[in-house]
Amino acid sequence: MPNAKRDPFASIDRLRPLITEEEIRNRTRELGAKISADYKGSDLLLVSVLKGGFVFLADLVRTIDIPLELDFMRVRSYGARSESSGVVEITADLTGPVEGKHVLFVEDIVDTGLTMTYLMRNIKTRHPADVRLCALLYKPERKLVDVPIDYLGFTIPNQFVVGYGLDYAEKHRNLPYIATMDDEPPG
Ligand code: 5GP
Repeated sequence: MPNAKRDPFASIDRLRPLITEEEIRNRTRELGAKISADYKGSDLLLVSVLKGGFVFLADLVRTIDIPLELDFMRVRSYGARSESSGVVEITADLTGPVEGKHVLFVEDIVDTGLTMTYLMRNIKTRHPADVRLCALLYKPERKLVDVPIDYLGFTIPNQFVVGYGLDYAEKHRNLPYIATMDDEPPG
């Protein structure tokens, strides 16, 4: 059940749980173990895309047991509210160089794929050792471009989701689970 105390808007926005806290925790642990094994001995730099990715990142890093660095990017994408246009502006960039590092993007959700395609292409021009992607959620029905997701949490249906870092008009980021909203919000 939506946690009305934590998020009084949960009932107003008619949220329905889609992925539980436990499912997220278990899957995150599996991803962390795989990342730890794959990057053992490498210079790993996790890059999180704000704001939506912050909860997943915080949980994921604590399941990774090899040394790593963290950095953040913030982007603004143009288009209607729930529609990415593919035109992405980096509004806050990484704080340091990535040359020679193994960059792993940690993203909340890959929808059309346009945002991650842009960001991965951008980072590749900075000469990292390699660039990969870890995404908690993927909506294949909305795909416009192919983005290889090296570490994927869950494939979900074509519904607008909130919680666990994801918002609707800046609300619901603090829900500890992923929920769908009854109707796709207006653009
Ligand atoms: P893409 O460029 O892949 O279409 O969009 C990626 C971004 O769109 C995500 O990082 C996220 O900010 C936003 N987004 C896409 N689908 C959803 C969704 O179902 N819920 C929320 N809250 N944001 C979404």
